[in-house]
Amino acid sequence: MPIQDAPKILVIEDEPPIRKFLRISLESHGYTVIETNTAAMGIGHAIAEPPDAVILDLGLPDLDGLQVIARLREWSKVPVIVVSARGRESDKVAALDAGADDYLTKPFGVGELLARLRVALRHSATVASPTSESVFRVGDLKVDLGRREVSIGQEAVHLTPTEYRLLLVLVSHAGKVVTHRQLLKEVWGPESVYENQYLRVYMGQLRRKIEQDAARPRYIKTEAGVGYRLMDE
Ligand code: CA
Repeated sequence: MPIQDAPKILVIEDEPPIRKFLRISLESHGYTVIETNTAAMGIGHAIAEPPDAVILDLGLPDLDGLQVIARLREWSKVPVIVVSARGRESDKVAALDAGADDYLTKPFGVGELLARLRVALRHSATVASPTSESVFRVGDLKVDLGRREVSIGQEAVHLTPTEYRLLLVLVSHAGKVVTHRQLLKEVWGPESVYENQYLRVYMGQLRRKIEQDAARPRYIKTEAGVGYRLMDE
């Protein structure tokens, strides 16, 4: 029995065993699942009955998943989690830069899927009511967005304006991977999206200030070749 008001997840995936795995995993955790096996059906369902999140395969029989993301993003901010056998960094970056919220490489486990979905759904709820959270906390790290203050435990951390902006962009996407291009664009502006060395330098400085061991970061994880993820739990 589907639960009333259970988050509705639209699955667009052409491989029956993976679709079945997704449906069973999600339904057993209280989600309502709508299954589609082509891009056209998926987009049609997204329009007819807007879901709370979309799980999208990149290799579909009728359209490439990247085109599906582009179509959805013309009118919808619905969280999109890509699942794909394409594990190359360039494919992840392409999906994220096209507007996907996150990326899972097949094969993946139920725990990982549910964690990504929770983050995606929490984000769309935060976007809907932007005043709900003005302090971000994870572990000993506290970012008070109203006061623009950062601390680790009882210690205040002094960040330069650029370091603070960088941290702020990560906080606004907490739990999700943010690509190098997105970070460069949001912190330094659209003309700087290829200036990867800015990012390396400032990320190094930021980590030295907030991480206990900058070589083994607890808060800001590197997604090799893709970007960075600020942990939110
Ligand atoms: Ca496929």
